[in-house]
Amino acid sequence: MGRFGGLMKGGAKASADGQSEVRSWMGVFTGLAHVTSPPSEAALIGALEGRPYSCIGQSHSYNGIQVIPGITALHLGKAAFKDAHYDPVSKTATCGPSVSVRELKELLRAHGRRMLNSGNYMAQTVIGALMGGTHGYGEQAVMAQAVTSLTFLDGRGQKVTLNRGDPDFPYAALSFGMIGPIFSVTLRTAPLESFQSDAWVTRLSKKAALARGAIAVTAAIVPYSDPADPLIMLHTLRPVRAGKGPRQARAPLLTLKGLIEALLRRLWAFDRMVPAARYWLQRAADRIDPRSHRRLITAPDDLDYLYDPEPLLKSQRAPDLLTGFFSTTFTAYNLAFFVPLDATEAVVRFIMEEARRLRPLGFVLKSLISVRECADASDLPFAGNFGGPAAAIDLFADVRDYAWLERLQRAVSSAFPGVRPHWGKSALVEDFAAVLGAQHLAAMRALHLRHYPPGTLMPHPAVRRLFGL
Ligand SMILES: Cc1cc2nc3c(=O)[nH]c(=O)nc-3n(C[C@H](O)[C@H](O)[C@H](O)COP(=O)(O)OP(=O)(O)OC[C@H]3O[C@@H](n4cnc5c(N)ncnc54)[C@H](O)[C@@H]3O)c2cc1C
Repeated sequence: MGRFGGLMKGGAKASADGQSEVRSWMGVFTGLAHVTSPPSEAALIGALEGRPYSCIGQSHSYNGIQVIPGITALHLGKAAFKDAHYDPVSKTATCGPSVSVRELKELLRAHGRRMLNSGNYMAQTVIGALMGGTHGYGEQAVMAQAVTSLTFLDGRGQKVTLNRGDPDFPYAALSFGMIGPIFSVTLRTAPLESFQSDAWVTRLSKKAALARGAIAVTAAIVPYSDPADPLIMLHTLRPVRAGKGPRQARAPLLTLKGLIEALLRRLWAFDRMVPAARYWLQRAADRIDPRSHRRLITAPDDLDYLYDPEPLLKSQRAPDLLTGFFSTTFTAYNLAFFVPLDATEAVVRFIMEEARRLRPLGFVLKSLISVRECADASDLPFAGNFGGPAAAIDLFADVRDYAWLERLQRAVSSAFPGVRPHWGKSALVEDFAAVLGAQHLAAMRALHLRHYPPGTLMPHPAVRRLFGL
């Protein structure tokens, strides 16, 4: 949960009639359900009886996929299934449904290992993150790509284990509530490693040259800068090479350029304080055209090196009021989708133009358009990068404006082929059926129906619609 308490951001709150309120992150979606956190395997199996049920991890999905009113909500993120261990022979980690991403990373660190990839927040359950299609960037960006085996309970409470190679495995490994409860997963891991982390404030036209040779690339686009050549913050990771130490090239803080650079790095904070000035601040930054470059070598044991290359976790360094009160994590609604990697720049420009058109109606995109490149293809049919490398595009808005983001999603998926959903952040609309493919929809539907007769596991209504359930 967020540091200001789970109820404000997501989670469950007790109510009078035995049901509790389940909330999505940012509280845009809410509903009453019979929430239970079983203390043992026997209690979990017992809880499957009586009425339809679904699973909740840490309720960090923005789009309400974890909010299904009226049923038994198995709140596994709050339950006691904390088993986690590392096997040095297979170099895999196995964990239960109550283990968080941070807990698994800490366990692996003690063995000199790390997760292959991860999202930018570590409080989610590992299994919830896998099932929502959570990704980082670079190679094997979608976390579920690392799964080698999983065990779930079917509608009769019987354990079913699937391994990579089983025909059903690719569907169950990223199944957003269609299979569950998933009781254990086994994941491949990698050795702890340092990386050369470079961050630039630059222009989109310079990105290809600066990112050449990088193993992981992410960019944050300033949405109201010049669409012909947007202002961006680019971040790359490379293997550490001899002679490439830390360096910093920034304008001095007490110059206009220096001030704008500092503002850009804290854009998410300033646009919260002065939303009316959001647009003009970005236009001014565009005119001043700041440039900077900073290189760090990440610490091998740093758990969040992908998002915060400085040593330790952000929360372990000096407290930063701006981060706590204003960061998009705690203030913005976030909607995301995947586009084919080679369409990224066209999609970004399209979103910038659409956002400009919506401005007279009072809508201003918050912060930055985030682009995380998933460098390779996944073999999981419901991954964002199934079929080819993809870019995950993240859009942010003030919470009251979340529905404008759904409109932008629909505009992008009407204008560009191959737009795929993020199961925890997209509006899950039927537009996605074509890109997901009739064959894969049918296979997932058949797998669900084989294990879950009516009255047992109940996916979210939007998912049910998509799969004709
Ligand atoms: C601050 C923040 C930052 C984020 N950053 C990123 C990011 O960098 N990249 C990214 O891709 N996403 C990101 N997300 C989205 C998030 O990773 C996903 O929505 C993730 O699925 C949430 O995990 P959870 O444990 O909270 O699961 P929930 O939201 O509770 O559930 C998600 C889905 O998993 C299912 N599920 C959960 N547990 C089980 C189980 N044991 N068995 C079967 N099904 C289960 C649920 O039924 C539901 O369908 C972020 C979200 C937040 C709030």
